Amino acid sequence: MDFRARRKKAVAAAQAVGVDALMVTHLPDVRYLTGFTGSNAAVVLFGGKSVLFTDGRYTAQAKAEVAGVRVVIEKKAAAVVACGWMEEAGVRRCGFDATQTSVAALESMRRAVSGSVRRGMFVPVGALVARLREVKDSDEIAAIRAAALVGCELFDGMLGFIQPGMAEVEVAAALEYAARLRGAEGMSFETIVASGERSALPHGRATTAKLPKRGFCTLDFGVVLDGYCSDMTRTVHLGKALPGEWEVYDSVLEAQTAAVARVAPGVTAGEVDEAARSVLRQSGLDKFFSHSTGHGVGLEIHEGPRLATQQTQVLEAGMVVTIEPGVYMPGKYGMRIEDMVLVTASGGEVLTPSLKAWIEL
Ligand code: ZN
Ligand code: ZN
Repeated sequence: MDFRARRKKAVAAAQAVGVDALMVTHLPDVRYLTGFTGSNAAVVLFGGKSVLFTDGRYTAQAKAEVAGVRVVIEKKAAAVVACGWMEEAGVRRCGFDATQTSVAALESMRRAVSGSVRRGMFVPVGALVARLREVKDSDEIAAIRAAALVGCELFDGMLGFIQPGMAEVEVAAALEYAARLRGAEGMSFETIVASGERSALPHGRATTAKLPKRGFCTLDFGVVLDGYCSDMTRTVHLGKALPGEWEVYDSVLEAQTAAVARVAPGVTAGEVDEAARSVLRQSGLDKFFSHSTGHGVGLEIHEGPRLATQQTQVLEAGMVVTIEPGVYMPGKYGMRIEDMVLVTASGGEVLTPSLKAWIEL
């Protein structure tokens, strides 16, 4: 991972918005800029220097993970120590990420500098580092690719395991156990297993409900590998389909395929969303598609860009996004199909090639 190149980009982004230092406290951003994975950290980029602030629990870890960055170990909250350092170093305007800084955290930062420099010191600059993280470098793409493939293996393994009468949590447990055996650091979010009527819940986390003899079962899950998340959804059918069910699935699959095909650099996020939505509109199903089409994935499970109606953000090569339209009919059933797609120089590459055709178990 070329952390130095990332820090250079962050410095340029900070200069472009008119601050002389950048304070980074959002932990995925800290990891992105330095490689540090501890839970208490702040990074300051100022005057060609990069300094990581953390506490004594992480002395050995910081030494092992971080290179080319000065590490300051102190007992107090990292951001507070960082502010004292900035005042001494002569920082006048420090940019901070207003989307990740609580009012209380900002207050303690302000209190950590003396009254004479406090005025004008802290400048909200938005999610500068998170914006950089949207376009992945080759190391990140390799990590995401590996995580996505583990996800596919897990799904394929579930096909021989899932049976009517089994509790949703049993399915989740087997999937998560298999994920660990394949090296996952953890799941990237709480595994969704939504069966029968519960498949109509877009975020139906696994419960003790039993899988029905006949009906849909949606699996939405992801693993974390080397810090990077995967995210995929497949919906299978248990037993023979009732009239109409296959047609709805086919529309969702068509919508999903259309949106995947629309992914390319230069296309807006809203255009990709519309590609999915317009297919469902043709069969009158768009009113049951109650969420956005997708999101970026990386060090965080949900990051930019957001693929939603009228989003004007333009896709760029190196972004990794999900394409996940679904249809949810309250009290009846629902389904979703989700792939991760890498934006390439000329289009999109699906990173989660597991079967999407109708699967009857
Ligand atoms: Zn998902
Ligand atoms: Zn997703």
